Amino acid sequence: MPDEAFSIDGVERAFIAHASVLIIDDDPDIHALITAMLHPLRPSIETALDGATGIAAARACLPDVILLDQDMPGATGIEVLGLLRADPELAAVPVVIITGSDSRSVLAACFAAGAADYIRKPFIGVELRARVSSVIERQRMLAQLGRAARIDKLTGLPNRALLQERLQSAIHRTEREPDYGFGVMFIDFDRFKMINDSLGHDVGDLLLAEIATRLRNNLRANDSFALDAAGTTVARLGGDEFVVILDSVRTPEQAKAAAERMLAVLERPYTLKSHSIRSSASIGITHSSGGYSSADDMLRDADIAMYEAKGRGKACVVQFSTGMREAVRQRMDTETDLRDALGTDQLFLVYQPIISLEDRHLESVEVLVRWRHPHRGMISPADFIPIAEETRLIIPLGDFILRQACHQFVKWQTCDPDHAPGYISVNLSRVQLADPAIVTRTLEILRETGVDPRQLQLEVTESQLMQQRELASTLLAAFKAEGIRIAMDDFGTGYSSLSCLQEYPFDVLKIDRALTENVGRDGGYSALLHAVVTLSENLGLHVVAEGIETLEQLVLLQALGCPAGQGYFLAKPMEAAVVETWWAGLPLRSVEAA
Ligand code: C2E
Ligand code: MG
Ligand code: MG
Repeated sequence: MPDEAFSIDGVERAFIAHASVLIIDDDPDIHALITAMLHPLRPSIETALDGATGIAAARACLPDVILLDQDMPGATGIEVLGLLRADPELAAVPVVIITGSDSRSVLAACFAAGAADYIRKPFIGVELRARVSSVIERQRMLAQLGRAARIDKLTGLPNRALLQERLQSAIHRTEREPDYGFGVMFIDFDRFKMINDSLGHDVGDLLLAEIATRLRNNLRANDSFALDAAGTTVARLGGDEFVVILDSVRTPEQAKAAAERMLAVLERPYTLKSHSIRSSASIGITHSSGGYSSADDMLRDADIAMYEAKGRGKACVVQFSTGMREAVRQRMDTETDLRDALGTDQLFLVYQPIISLEDRHLESVEVLVRWRHPHRGMISPADFIPIAEETRLIIPLGDFILRQACHQFVKWQTCDPDHAPGYISVNLSRVQLADPAIVTRTLEILRETGVDPRQLQLEVTESQLMQQRELASTLLAAFKAEGIRIAMDDFGTGYSSLSCLQEYPFDVLKIDRALTENVGRDGGYSALLHAVVTLSENLGLHVVAEGIETLEQLVLLQALGCPAGQGYFLAKPMEAAVVETWWAGLPLRSVEAA
């Protein structure tokens, strides 16, 4: 129950529990007086008779407040305050100056030196208690605010700011204690964005909270090292990125083992609002034995290793090595250069003929992008398309490719309709196929360039479809409804699931070079190809064999009944002008059709 001591000007002060107060005053009588006056607050009290002893006592007991006499022999209160503020451990401890002076300039100097408050002698108990309580309360509120600003609201885990502090103090500890070691684990959940987009943010939030719980529980309970590892921290950086500081882990191998256990925990199914969700995580780890001096460097390396884990097909743990830094730098350079290259003639298109194996007429051309880098020369799309995908540059790049190809197609149709291909075949990246706006934009480009949707074929691979079944299926159906043809590209490299052929509205099956290559090498492959061709015919699919490199392959494919082909033996990818001279030797399509 509050006694009269807590009430001043009618304002009730909350009880200041367990406060510790340090009195620095050269007069022991003042120590006794203040102790008696503060008694109703039941604080723990330490005392010192001069500045130097006071600072030492403050370091030892880290008080909630220091009551500091201004008028001491030797250093004055304001001078001692200056020393306290300069000490990183004590700088935040609030100080109340006790002074006999009522000079405004002395009071101003107290505040200028960083005092939280002052009290003038002679003072009475009520006033002293009110000032001390209010300073402590303010300090506790500030601390609470500071904590709130360093905690992630959704999961209750430390956020980036707090993580960085803890990481930095772990690094300092390695400098002081040679035997101490720790690991850092950078975790990115593999399909979070997709789950968030398809099931909604509510489910996404629940998933993040569940991931946080699993990380916290499993580090505490299951990891033997964690039992005596008080500094183990699980933090959320934002999005689906989590970081764990594995405290007291002496070797990188131990850190890796812990990360692998964590991966298994995260891969268990999640049940959220009656949805059953399965996913995995990509984990990058780094260890203090790398000789780090900055928390940022250590986080960056763990992030690089995580990135590498994604690149290795996700759902795995990768230990950081310095070679990865160079690879990332190169990727970043490529990304910057690619951004600059967009819209310039560094990026251009080549066209590879797709030819009827029955009568050799030009059915179509596959549009393939090329990058002539000003310093590095030609860069293969196999190298830069994945980077364009990661950075989503593939979206503007894809639009550019389609627009250019459509313009070229219209030109060919106008100048030489007899030789020109009947339609163009454009590759669609997995990122484009996860973009709900892709259909509208594609139709806009077709309208703008005057190409009939039936004169466009889009090539997608099976693995693309596996990654985002529902959205891909909706988008392909929308393309199909507009009359756009859909081809399954690289058949034979993925699961080669025949059910996939029925599930999606394909018009064309493109047999991958890896299968074509083996035709004629042994009876098994030829029989397989024959089966694929026959099955496709039954399903109403047109078949194109890719990567025909020899006459022998061509003849065998014809014998197997494969209706169309593409490959270096027939024609390499060529720039538009070269295609026009190349097709002069082909039979006319109008004649063929007749
Ligand atoms: P893809 O769609 O399967 O394209 C066929 C690739 O095989 C092309 O390589 C082509 O030059 C190559 N090729 C054609 N015939 C033969 C042959 O007889 N032998 C051999 N060894 N190779 C042959 P490229 O142009 O390097 O493209 C590689 C991949 O990059 C493409 O595979 C496609 O996935 C991607 N890509 C290329 N251009 C684009 C584009 O404009 N947009 C998108 N999204 N992806 C593209
Ligand atoms: Mg293709
Ligand atoms: Mg292909």
